[in-house]
Amino acid sequence: MTNQNNNVVRPEVNSCINTLISGPESMAVLGEFLGFSHSNFIKRLDLEGANVNAWIDLMRAASPTRSENQEKSSWILYHPSAIKLFDEIIYSAKGKEIVFFLDYDGTLSPIVADPDKAFMTRKMRATLKDIARHFPTAIVTGRCRDKVFNFVKLAELYYAASHGMDIMGPTKNGSAVKSNNNNNTNKAVLFQPAGQFLPMIDEVYKILLEKTKCVPGAKVENNKFCLSVHFRCVDEKSWAPLAEKVRLVLNEYPKLRLTQGRKVLEIRPTIKWDKGKALEFLLESLGYENSNDVFPIYIGDDRTDEDAFKVLRRRGQGVGILVSSVPKETDASYTLQDPSEVEHFLRRLVEWKRSSNVNPTSA
Ligand SMILES: [Mg+2]
Repeated sequence: MTNQNNNVVRPEVNSCINTLISGPESMAVLGEFLGFSHSNFIKRLDLEGANVNAWIDLMRAASPTRSENQEKSSWILYHPSAIKLFDEIIYSAKGKEIVFFLDYDGTLSPIVADPDKAFMTRKMRATLKDIARHFPTAIVTGRCRDKVFNFVKLAELYYAASHGMDIMGPTKNGSAVKSNNNNNTNKAVLFQPAGQFLPMIDEVYKILLEKTKCVPGAKVENNKFCLSVHFRCVDEKSWAPLAEKVRLVLNEYPKLRLTQGRKVLEIRPTIKWDKGKALEFLLESLGYENSNDVFPIYIGDDRTDEDAFKVLRRRGQGVGILVSSVPKETDASYTLQDPSEVEHFLRRLVEWKRSSNVNPTSA
């Protein structure tokens, strides 16, 4: 794998990548990934020292197309269905206040080719509304706040957008809040730890638009405090050249870093802030900083959600639920297969809460 440490993509890179994917080394990497025997498997790639082939391998691994039944059975043993073990989760939450943290793409809405059309179903919105009626609920997403609010359209929720770098609370009168200003006139805005990066992110957004326009299907999304370069509609043969273009742009901006998600490269400020930090900030804002009476439930499908799963494990509170139909290394305790199962799980929580309100001894 001589070109793995080479920061310049050579013309033969596509064939190299294909060789890599079918070769024994990459199969070993994938095997480790699926069998999680390699505890230090790379989950996040910073710009420094990273290379295009590693990104491509990870993107493929993050969006696997097949898995062995045996591996899946073993994985499910360690990460059982949150629906099948619903009673176990409720038992753990007994006497505590449940707080929901929900990723958006791939969790509340299906992953679709056009990220601008990642709508959630009416059924999901109705369920989410019911969930928020009974439990404090936050959407934690890489999307920009305005965009995710336009998808969800529920003013009673908390929104931790741009990977938690843009946090907004519900308004007291429940009216819709869409302002994204930075001048503190919007009292619903709770926290924006990366405000000083806005001009730089805008500048990089414009450069990336220009540099990637020649790659069919490439889409650059401005999430205000971070940028996403979507590979969903890009031919797999163009993944490496596209990733290389992104890397070259980022070389000029050491205060920004690259992370990798499901068919997406994301550009973020180098501040130590992620979905896990956002979860802790929101728990603190809700008054649960040092409380043992809280039971956070975090549901997400992406690598960026692992930061939140880790926080829950470290705190020994609540549960992390990974949305995935295929084995992935995760710090989540339970799994749900897809957004329709997420809806089913949330609906059961609502029904359980309603019945426990009628019959308080069951809660
Ligand atoms: Mg997601």
